[in-house]
Amino acid sequence: MKKTVLVSGGAGYIGSHVTVELLQAGYEVVVADNMSNCDSTCFEGVRKITGRDDLKLNIVDFCDKARVEELFSEYKMDALIHFAAFKAVGESVADPLKYYGNNLESFVNVIGAAHRHGLHNILFSSSATVYGQVEDLPVTEKTPRLPATSPYGNTKQICEDILRDCTSAYKDIKGIALRYFNPIGAHPSALIGELPRGVPNNLVPFITQTAVGKRECLSIFGNDYPTPDGTCLRDYIDIVDLAKAHVAAVSRMLDGKMEADYEIFNVGTGRPVSVQELVDTFEKVNGLKLNCKIAPRRDGDVTAIWADTALAGEKLGWKATRELSDTLKSAWEWEKHIAGK
Ligand code: UDP
Repeated sequence: MKKTVLVSGGAGYIGSHVTVELLQAGYEVVVADNMSNCDSTCFEGVRKITGRDDLKLNIVDFCDKARVEELFSEYKMDALIHFAAFKAVGESVADPLKYYGNNLESFVNVIGAAHRHGLHNILFSSSATVYGQVEDLPVTEKTPRLPATSPYGNTKQICEDILRDCTSAYKDIKGIALRYFNPIGAHPSALIGELPRGVPNNLVPFITQTAVGKRECLSIFGNDYPTPDGTCLRDYIDIVDLAKAHVAAVSRMLDGKMEADYEIFNVGTGRPVSVQELVDTFEKVNGLKLNCKIAPRRDGDVTAIWADTALAGEKLGWKATRELSDTLKSAWEWEKHIAGK
């Protein structure tokens, strides 16, 4: 019998890539999304890539308890991957109640329904933002979390704690938090990728939108950081590699391989890349020149962060494999695809 995984937020950027990898690994997937931050482009892409024209898009707002209950009554599911959340850092600072309301309530609701309906395996999409600016790099899963610098980051910390507490109180529940570094790129088919609404905050969508002519000029936020070239260092993880980490984590839960009720894994490459290096690589591999300028530092940016990925390697048998150059080619192919070029 195929095991079934509920993917909340399954029509979004990460959720759609994870759905593809789960289906290709032989899992059945229940895709659920309230479509508040995406249209059906990626969901249609998932259907095309996997040839699953029958795959259903369940419209579910995870803050709506009755609707969540209905979903759990409709499907028998073995694991949950929870993505459904708001994710704009700046907006969370301007409207914290929106973020605490939505991101916490939806998670509490879905764990409650999972518990009542006998779904015991829960994977939470966390973030490297929970670490803040760490002195000792790279960060391991044991590196203490620092106080969050935004309500968005705080919801990631609180949701990790909710999951940890539930796994300790309700003995049948097992949980894994995956802490993503900087997910970038698109599926090699160019049928799914990131579709930011409005002006992108993240570096790679801003680069591709500048390259395609949607934005006039890329600003590099600061070149006076204490790093080799003066720009910030991050750990950019390919979206398909990232999606595969979810399959490995779900298998670990469903195959009874967990060594504790609650586990945490960093999902990154382990390689720091500077903003300037990323821009240069994008230009080189795609054979184009970006209009870009050095701008002042952006508030809230940490100088440098990258992952120690040894634990994921050892326990999940997972590591990032795609070259940065291929990831940046895929990001550009996707941007051209959505621009109809
Ligand atoms: N960045 C930049 N210009 C942009 C967007 C981002 O220079 O238009 C830099 C940002 O300062 C950071 C890095 O790119 O050093 C990654 O930023 P992003 O917002 O993608 O991810 P974050 O690490 O902040 O979550």
